[in-house]
Amino acid sequence: MYSCEFFFWDDFKVESRNGVIYAGDSEGVIFEESNKKSAYVACPAFVNYHTHLGDSVAKDPPFSGIEIVMPKGYKFRVLKEYEDNIVQAMEKAIKHMILSGVLKAFDFREGGISGIKALRSADKAGICVALGRPEENELEELLKVSDGFGISSVRDVGFEKASEMREFAKKRKKLFFVHAGEVDSKDVDQAVELRPDAIVHMNMAEIKQIKRAMDERIKIVSCIRSNMFFDVARIENYRFLKEYEGWRIGTDNVMLSSPSMLEEMHFASYVTRDVENVFRAATCEGMKYGVVIFHKRLNFSNSNNALATLVRRAGMEDIECVIPGEVKIE
Ligand SMILES: [Zn+2]
Repeated sequence: MYSCEFFFWDDFKVESRNGVIYAGDSEGVIFEESNKKSAYVACPAFVNYHTHLGDSVAKDPPFSGIEIVMPKGYKFRVLKEYEDNIVQAMEKAIKHMILSGVLKAFDFREGGISGIKALRSADKAGICVALGRPEENELEELLKVSDGFGISSVRDVGFEKASEMREFAKKRKKLFFVHAGEVDSKDVDQAVELRPDAIVHMNMAEIKQIKRAMDERIKIVSCIRSNMFFDVARIENYRFLKEYEGWRIGTDNVMLSSPSMLEEMHFASYVTRDVENVFRAATCEGMKYGVVIFHKRLNFSNSNNALATLVRRAGMEDIECVIPGEVKIE
């Protein structure tokens, strides 16, 4: 039982309520309002909307001087080289996410069916949504073991093939995510035309293209630290996107940035100069998955604004516990 100030997103604004969180039984997590003085700060679990957990096997390449994600580039070389260690590396990345309050992550998994199976065996807690990338002739089979498709770019697979995959996913009620607008805006129009469940990036999209995606109610996922790594960040796009209710954030390649949403929120809040919308993008679906309880002994001490501290400063060192289970408010 934790007496806390509980922040969550409801009806287009951040709500803050004092109360008590009860946890641990099969009913899930119960938050009950009360006048109890809060000893803790709490929020819904974080949802990391975009990861590539597999490349956690070879972290922290240099900022420049090598091709990272090109065919035959660094990423593909090291994934091949360290193939046997991938499951163990993903296990550690998933552990890092859970310890930092992430209880749901949408992962783009390369390597077809065997790639999905590797992720499932690493994900003992079952927090990952596995979005696969089919190898030759395995569309149908891949969808049986995965939660949908996560494709690199319409530019890489071609519009026709991408449309076929999109239809396949829709018929079987699976997800379809695509990268677009990362290095330029040329692959954006076709990506929007596919009406995917989410488009990852759009940092290089033109504002009118972003508006079209918004009109189609397509979720848009920004991965700002990753864009900074590749030197393709465009601040005005994030500041435009942050007001959109379908805006989400993710941490992208574990090779480049930690999968902690606390760290992504810190960075995103400074870039967008916004606390509330960044909080929303990171937690608005989190009530389904659990709560994160922060103690006030370190970063929250002497804070004048607990929400700003949570978004801009809180670290794993401030987490008292992470409690899984659907959150009910009584
Ligand atoms: Zn990505």
